[in-house]
Amino acid sequence: MLAYVLGVNFLAAVVALATAFTVPVELEDLRLFAVLIVCVWLATELTRHVDRKREYSRLSSVAYVDTKAVWTFAAVIVLPLPLVTLLIIVNYWISWSRVQLISRNNLKHRWVFSCSTVLNGAYAASFVLAHGMSAYPGPPASSAPAAFVDLGVIVVAGLLRWIINAGMVMAAIAISDASRRVRDLFTNFSQQFLELGAYGLGLVVAVILVANPFVLPGVIVAIVVLHRSALVNQYQRASRQDTKTGLASAGWWHEFAEQTLARTDDRGSTMGLLMVDLDHFKRINDTYGHPFGDEVLQAVALELQAEVRDDDACGRWGGEEFAVVLPDVGSEDSLKRVAERIRLRIESLTLQPPGDVGLGDTVNLTASIGGAVYPAKGISTLDELLLAADSALYEAKNSGRNRVCLSPAGPKPVVQEPPGEDLPGIIPPGPSPN
Ligand code: GH3
Ligand code: MG
Ligand code: MG
Repeated sequence: MLAYVLGVNFLAAVVALATAFTVPVELEDLRLFAVLIVCVWLATELTRHVDRKREYSRLSSVAYVDTKAVWTFAAVIVLPLPLVTLLIIVNYWISWSRVQLISRNNLKHRWVFSCSTVLNGAYAASFVLAHGMSAYPGPPASSAPAAFVDLGVIVVAGLLRWIINAGMVMAAIAISDASRRVRDLFTNFSQQFLELGAYGLGLVVAVILVANPFVLPGVIVAIVVLHRSALVNQYQRASRQDTKTGLASAGWWHEFAEQTLARTDDRGSTMGLLMVDLDHFKRINDTYGHPFGDEVLQAVALELQAEVRDDDACGRWGGEEFAVVLPDVGSEDSLKRVAERIRLRIESLTLQPPGDVGLGDTVNLTASIGGAVYPAKGISTLDELLLAADSALYEAKNSGRNRVCLSPAGPKPVVQEPPGEDLPGIIPPGPSPN
């Protein structure tokens, strides 16, 4: 990992030094550079609060994307290489000192690495531009056919920069944790489009910068709005998922259930609702510790999701209570069959407790499930449906646990006896049945 990071940094440093004194810089270049630096500083100041929040709430396994590329890509098009190098370094330095510094954990190396990947991408892009553009450095020609050729060259340069940049960061993430699957690297890959959007704006900035830099504040406003919407997306995703189990959060599940109920009314179909509560879960926590309890919750969540259809939604309702909404469930019988399958699945789950407690023992657990079907007599809202399922769950608990009870349309739930004897919540550690 260290060799890889140092290698990327070294490559950037070599090209930076090699071009620093060999490529000529003119006075006009310095003027464009000064305008770009002012834009970089203004954009950083106006977006740093949003960027900080995005940086904190992102997943470490996902390459972080921001809009610095607007300025750095514009620089690649219109500035000679020594000023491109300087602008990228200054951009990262401003950004680091205004966005990152407050956290003060040793992330400096990460920013140096990010800066190096951007430098390497920019050098590759400028190589393409230098060999393909009608006039380089400078904005694309303004009349056909040269304009089309220039645009094509800029697209190729942008793609190359993007591939090098994203590829180098993803390689670093992959090397830092070999157990990570390739698929994980592409989680939230759609965020990468933000980077491509930034290149598009970078091209616009390059043209405006030369033609009329006084309208650049318009671009800065657009960037601030882009940042906000990226943050809103990130928050929206986070608010819909329960972090511990990966199931729908209670709020998002409730929203989905409300929509399902409205659709059920509209189409005159049916829906089912199940409340699943683990039996004597407190004992698992007390015996094996809270962290193991959390592992159990994750395992149960996986089982739940595996048992239901894609159209059904499993949510974490409370601590160790799960809720499942099943659109178009059909009859009470089919809801009962699903609930029974879930109950059996949880019952047959065997979990290995932490090593220092009873080595070789396994923990079994059971769950009580309450269910209700909609439409039913006396139920017209989601809250009433939830209450009906909850009362059925209460009934299941009271009548011995590890069983499924469905709420009938009437006031008194029907109790379904499970096959076999009344099992306790936890089957004490011991040899497995076979
Ligand atoms: P019952 O059969 O009556 O449901 O018994 P129970 O012990 O499961 O009781 P209850 O449903 O009230 O269980 C709540 C327990 O769940 C208390 C708490 O320790 C545990 N719990 C709630 N949230 C979490 C969590 O996020 N992680 C862990 N490990 N335990 C949790
Ligand atoms: Mg419980
Ligand atoms: Mg409970």
